[in-house]
Amino acid sequence: MRTIAAWPLDAPPPADVPAEFHTPCARVGRDLRHLPAGARLPDGARWELSEEPWSGFLLGLGSARGLRYTLEVDPYLPPGPLTALVAEQVQDHVTGYEFLQWPTCPGHVHLLVPAADPDGGERAWWHCRRTRRPLFRIGDLGTGSRART
Ligand SMILES: [Zn+2]
Repeated sequence: MRTIAAWPLDAPPPADVPAEFHTPCARVGRDLRHLPAGARLPDGARWELSEEPWSGFLLGLGSARGLRYTLEVDPYLPPGPLTALVAEQVQDHVTGYEFLQWPTCPGHVHLLVPAADPDGGERAWWHCRRTRRPLFRIGDLGTGSRART
């Protein structure tokens, strides 16, 4: 496994990271600023991108304690589905390993569900699990801007 780059969660990726990853990582990283009150990720939490000869790109969350998860990612997915996939994997990681409920629905107590634009557009959204409506664009959590539904 060859490590391509490691960078802070809410910083732009370095130049050697393929362009396809820039928007998904920037948007999901920005949403990770909005954890539940009092919660935090491990010290030095960062993105890590590596390359495997047989399986392609592996994207993960690392920290001072080492790499905590990796996801085999297909950079040729369209931007919306790629963003939703990265959001889903990060959500699984922070709920399963860091025991943080992120992000939660403002109207209910459940987690929001990431999904891409159904029409194959560039955007991905956090949806309410109950109403199935998109509430926030992924990357816009905490900005006060909500989806028009
Ligand atoms: Zn809800």
